Amino acid sequence: MNDSRARQRILVTGGAGFVGSHLVGHLCSRGAAVTIIDDLSTGSLRNLVEVRDGGANLEFIEGRAGAAINGLDARSFSAVYHLAAAVGVQLVLEKTAEAVERNVIDTSSVLRWAASAGVPTLITSSSEVYGRGVRSPFREEDDVVYGPTTALRWSYACSKALDEYLALAHYHAAGLPATVVRLFNTVGPRQTGRYGMVLPRFVRSALNGQPLEVYGDGRQSRCFCDVRDVVPAIVALLESSASRGRVFNVGSDQSTSIGDLARLVVATLGSSSPVVNVPYAEAYGPGFDDLQIRQPDLTRIRETISFAPRIALTQTITDIAAQITRVAAEAPR
Ligand code: UDP
Repeated sequence: MNDSRARQRILVTGGAGFVGSHLVGHLCSRGAAVTIIDDLSTGSLRNLVEVRDGGANLEFIEGRAGAAINGLDARSFSAVYHLAAAVGVQLVLEKTAEAVERNVIDTSSVLRWAASAGVPTLITSSSEVYGRGVRSPFREEDDVVYGPTTALRWSYACSKALDEYLALAHYHAAGLPATVVRLFNTVGPRQTGRYGMVLPRFVRSALNGQPLEVYGDGRQSRCFCDVRDVVPAIVALLESSASRGRVFNVGSDQSTSIGDLARLVVATLGSSSPVVNVPYAEAYGPGFDDLQIRQPDLTRIRETISFAPRIALTQTITDIAAQITRVAAEAPR
C-alpha cells in the first residue's frame, strides 16, 4: 500500500470535549475518517451526538490519550490533533497534581508516538502560557512571567509551556511536523461552565433568572472567539507547511470587559437576572491572581492563513442559550 492510501484517518484526542467535538464535526463534514480518544473526564458523548447523527465515519476509544495511543498504528494516520488536557482554572486549582500530570505525561507520550511515524501534529496550548504577560497584546515571542510556585494557578501555565517545549523539541530533533496553537478565550455551544468558564455560566444564570456573578470589579477584559471560527483556523494551520515548528495565537482580538459581558448576556437574552459583583477571594479562595487584560496579537496567524473570525458575540450567546435549553429539554426527568 502506498503512503497516501495507508494514511487515511485523523486522530483527535479530547474529541468529546468542547473544542474537540466541534473539530471532529468539521473534519467529518470534509469527509475525513476520525478516531477519537477521550477519557470523558470533562468531555461527554453527548457532544458527539450531532456528528454521529450526520453519519460520520467515527471511531471512539475511551481512555487516557497517553495510554490509548499504544493500541494504534501511527503510520495509519494522516494528522493528529492533540487536544486532550485538563481544562479550566477551577479544575486546576482543585486537582493540581492530576492536571499537571495529565498535561505533561500524556502529551509527551502522544508526541513520541506521532514522531515515530512523522505524522503532522497540532497541539492546543493556552493563552495561560503568557502568565502575567510582559505587555499587551500578547505576541508569540514574548517573554513569559509567572507568579511563585506557591500560587498553584501558574502550574497550568507551566504545564502547557512544557507541552510546547516538547512539541518544538520533536520538531527540531526528529523533524516532527509539529504546530502549537495558543487558544485564547474560546466560546460556543457545548462549553460547560462547570470548570469556571465565564460565558456558559453567565448564560445559564440568565436563563434561570439567577444573578450573574462578576468576579472582582468586572473591569478585567477578555477577547472571546466562537469555537466555530477557531476550528477551521486550527485545521488550516495544521495543513499549512508554514506552521511547522511554530507557535500561533488563535482567537479574537476584540476586548470585552467581564462586566460588559454580563450586561450583554442579560440584554441579548432579555433576562431579568441581576448582575452582581463577587470578591475574588470568595470566588477562588484567598490569593487568586486574575489577569486584567488578555488580548492576542494576531499578526502571525493572519500572515500564515486567512483568518477573520465572523461570528458576533451576541450570536454566540444566543446559540449557547439555545443549546442549553435543548439539552435541558432532552434530559430524562
Ligand atoms: N469570571 C466571572 N464570573 C464567573 C466566571 C469567571 O466573573 O462566573 C471571570 C474570571 O475571574 C475572569 C474572566 O471571567 O476574569 C474569564 O474567566 P474564564 O475562567 O472564563 O477565563 P480565563 O480567566 O482563563 O481567561
